[in-house]
Amino acid sequence: MMSVAAYVGVGAMLLLWIAGNLYRREKNKNRVIYVAVDRCIGCRRCVKRCSRHVLEMVNDEAGAHVEVKYPGKCTACGDCLGKCKFNALKMVDRV
Ligand code: SF4
Ligand code: SF4
Repeated sequence: MMSVAAYVGVGAMLLLWIAGNLYRREKNKNRVIYVAVDRCIGCRRCVKRCSRHVLEMVNDEAGAHVEVKYPGKCTACGDCLGKCKFNALKMVDRV
């Protein structure tokens, strides 16, 4: 059986986690992912990483590359950034 101290500890950790998420959401609400098409080689690593399906592959006159298809769904979580080995992704202010 858990002691009172353990309940307090778990509760405090939960509150910190919630506060951290709210802070990150507020901080990122005016940010969005941007793709530098000239650097993108179309490896799809970022597409697979984005759980919100913001990014999509396109094949046009610039060749196969990624596009920010649904910017409104981007939470600026940054998960995709670390997947790009070609420095083609960056976070920018929403316009
Ligand atoms: S920053 Fe997050 S939500 Fe936005 S495209 Fe990257 S992985 Fe998806
Ligand atoms: S990880 Fe980088 S190079 Fe690969 S598809 Fe995404 S933006 Fe393009």
